[in-house]
Amino acid sequence: MKINPILLDGKALAKEIEINLRARVARIIQQTGTIPALATVLVGNDPSSEIYVNMKGKACERVGLVSVKVHLPETATTEELLDTIEKLNKDDNICGILLQHPVPEQINERLCFDKILPGKDVDGVTCHGFGRMVMGEKAYGSATPAGIISLLKHYNLTLEGKHAVVVGRSPILGKPIAMMLLNEDATVTICHSKTANLPGLIRQADIVVGAVGLPEFIKADWIKDNAIVIDAGYHKGGKGDIEIEKVKEKVMAYTPVPGGVGPMTIATLISQTVESAEMNSKSF
Ligand code: NAP
Repeated sequence: MKINPILLDGKALAKEIEINLRARVARIIQQTGTIPALATVLVGNDPSSEIYVNMKGKACERVGLVSVKVHLPETATTEELLDTIEKLNKDDNICGILLQHPVPEQINERLCFDKILPGKDVDGVTCHGFGRMVMGEKAYGSATPAGIISLLKHYNLTLEGKHAVVVGRSPILGKPIAMMLLNEDATVTICHSKTANLPGLIRQADIVVGAVGLPEFIKADWIKDNAIVIDAGYHKGGKGDIEIEKVKEKVMAYTPVPGGVGPMTIATLISQTVESAEMNSKSF
């Protein structure tokens, strides 16, 4: 008998997380007399990035944080961006720094990410944070993958011993989610554009993570019955990286698009900012 698939409702969980964060921020303000801030740095005029940064700013306001928006022009240089990050590193009111990816191509994005102080790296983008996370040390996780893990844990889905196939190996998504699943004792296969026989590998997966950036690239008939399906993609028309609509009936659990991974990314970023603010408040 087929049991109804579990809808991994990131939107609902993000709302719950925000309620808890609001109370924590109110306590920090009471204790310190200052309102902690998240700085978002946007470079250039990419419309999607502008939308993402605005969504993050609004989430700050909902939980009572200040959102400091820094917008550099499309022509900004690596040096200018490094200077901006350095100023934010030195500003005691700023508890977290988010540098919106991607930046214009003349900028050395890795250098700029790694300029963010580890204590303010609430989006989990530095090599330092990534290395610590891989080693199982305390670090702010990369927001999207950490949000995915929180969602899986919230629904008590067993990861131990499962074969997870991650499609994508980007520094902010594919690589960290693969390492986080490994840390949860899953057996992980990482796939990318040079992978041979991708459908064959996905057909073996108990957990599939779509982090490719191509609409409905992962086909329904590559996914085995009772798999857990996580779709990080978002494309025009509400499509993800996976043919979710066609697999809903045969899987154990799936993330909707939208309303799955996206809200959990923002909730994780804000949650890690509040954690950083709590650390700062201890020095008062
Ligand atoms: P990315 O940097 O473009 O990386 C895409 C990855 O997919 C690369 O590793 C690439 O392989 C791989 N790939 C491309 N074509 C492939 C193919 N034909 N077969 C197998 N693998 C292939 O993208 P990203 O930043 O990780 O984002 C991935 C998706 O997640 C996008 O849809 C993005 O919008 C979404 N996303 C969502 C959130 C959120 O908050 N919801 C946050 C971040 C990203 P190579 O390494 O070999 O090039």
